[in-house]
Parts: sequence; structure tokens; C-alpha cells
Amino acid sequence: MQRACVIGWPVEHSRSPLIHRYWLKQYGIDGAYEKEAVRPEDLARFLGALEARGYVGANVTLPHKEAALQLAAVVDEAARTIGAANTLWLNQAGRLSASNSDTYGFITNLDAQASDWNKGRRPAMVLGAGGAARAILQGLLTEGAARILLANRTRGRAEALAQAFGPAVSVIDWKDRNRALAGCGLLVNATSLGMTGKDPLEINLKALPGDAVVADIVYSPLETKLLEGARARGNRVVDGLGMLLHQAVPGFERWFGVRPEVTPELRAHVAAALGAN
Ligand code: NAP
Repeated sequence: MQRACVIGWPVEHSRSPLIHRYWLKQYGIDGAYEKEAVRPEDLARFLGALEARGYVGANVTLPHKEAALQLAAVVDEAARTIGAANTLWLNQAGRLSASNSDTYGFITNLDAQASDWNKGRRPAMVLGAGGAARAILQGLLTEGAARILLANRTRGRAEALAQAFGPAVSVIDWKDRNRALAGCGLLVNATSLGMTGKDPLEINLKALPGDAVVADIVYSPLETKLLEGARARGNRVVDGLGMLLHQAVPGFERWFGVRPEVTPELRAHVAAALGAN
């Protein structure tokens, strides 16, 4: 039996088991996917004994994503660019290997929900400068975004990202985000604002063109206030659940040898669990 897990502290909130257990059942695989609550000070020991614990790999969630990258013996380009790992596996030589599937998950979902998001190559606005924002900038630029306006509460973090990604990324002040929406073809919320239990995202969409796409990577609640407001004024919206489902695909394939599909049934299964919380 192949076993994988999600490692976090706390880990109880993780939706990854819902997704991977669904696929295990769907594809009739003799495998298991567990939750592992691991304290930061125990992470190195836990990962050092991954094989002894019977695991072929793991997802990594907060607060371990950066530390897991440091502990991996082999790191791929996606994880290196993002500076964090969310997917681990033991390679054929048994060495701990790390990747990050957030860029893949975000772009695959955006392409699936709004394939013309870059039509006219208008500027995209990204809110946030944490790990998720870094993954999204990487994806948008690789897919041909001409210009990205980056706004973050702490301007210095946005400036560091702009420096890392080059002249296509321009930093704007957090307080200027409303008026800078004029002419944008895409708006992405990559902050944790709007998530259940966090502060709301305060934004006025008045200047945003009516045909722009609005994406939120927050998935709890599924319909955030941002998406609700965007939908009400006629913008197309892309929710965070799609990214969550797609980012799980590469890990499942590595651990269990089957490339799983993100289907409407899987989405309904996870959405029902989110709605129940
Ligand atoms: P992070 O590294 O902690 O970054 C958090 C971001 O939110 C920072 O830009 C931070 O700004 C901003 N922020 C937090 N509180 C704020 C406030 N009160 N006002 C203004 N800005 C605030 O987190 P992350 O890993 O990038 O994740 C961000 C969100 O994306 C989380 O909600 C996470 O659950 C979600 N996410 C979803 C997926 C998915 O698959 N859908 C994948 C990854 C992450 P400062 O820099 O000023 O602190």
C-alpha cells in the first residue's frame, strides 16, 4: 500500500485529504492519505524518517513550506523560484525531493475558467506579496502577461518581489489599488483577506473594466465578498477552489502513479465539505 500525508501545524483544517482520498477511491488504488500534525521543531526529524514511517511523499502546508524546501536534498525549479515547497516525495535514490504546484494549480484553473484572461495583454493587478502571490506572478509572467501591478499592505515585500521578477512588475501603493484598476484585464486576490475569520478585503471595483476577470485564491468561503461584488457587476469570476484542486494533481501522480482528473464531481464533493464548515 502506498501512503502519503499532509504535514502542517495545525493540520486539522487541511482539505488535502478530501481530495486525495476521493481520487484513491475513484481510481481503485490501494493507498492512503493521512494528516500529520508536526511541530516546527520536529519537522527535520519527521522528514528524515518519512520512508521509515511508510510514506512515499507528502504535501506541506503552513508553517512548514519554506523549511521543507531547506530540508529537501533535491529541489525543482518551481519550488526554487517560489522559495517554498508544497509537494515532497522520495526519488528513486530515496532522497527527499521538493516541488511547488501552486503556479501550476493557479494557471491551470485560470485557463480552464477564463482562457482569454490575457486577451489584449492588458495589465493584471495582483494583491498580496506572500508565497501565493509569488507563485501567481511566476505563472502570469510565464504565460505572457505583459504588465503586472502589484499592491501589498507592506510595500517593501511587494518591492522585493518586483525586483525578483523584473520590469514587467510595477509596485503600486496599497491605498491606490482602487483607481489603478482602470484598464486592467485581470484582478487576483492573493492575500488572505476575505477568508473566514480574517479581515475583509476592502476594494472598490468601480474602475475595473466590465470584461475583466476577477480571481480569488481564498476558497473558504467559496464565494468571497470580492467574487460576489465582481459577479454582481458582470465580471467573470474564478474562485480559489479550482486552484486548490489542480495544485493537488502533480503530487497524486508522483505518489500513486495515476494522473488524476479534476472533475465537476470532485469539485462538488469538496465544495459540499467547505459549505458544511
Ligand atoms: P502569506 O505568505 O502569509 O501572505 C499573506 C498575504 O496577505 C500578504 O501579502 C499579507 O500582507 C496579506 N495580508 C494579510 N492580512 C492583511 C491585512 N489585514 N491587510 C492587508 N493585507 C493583509 O500567505 P500565502 O501563503 O501567500 O497565502 C495567502 C492566501 O492564499 C491564504 O488565504 C491561503 O489560504 C490562500 N492560498 C490558497 C491556495 C489555493 O489553492 N486556493 C493556495 C495557496 C494559498 P503583508 O505582506 O502586508 O503582511
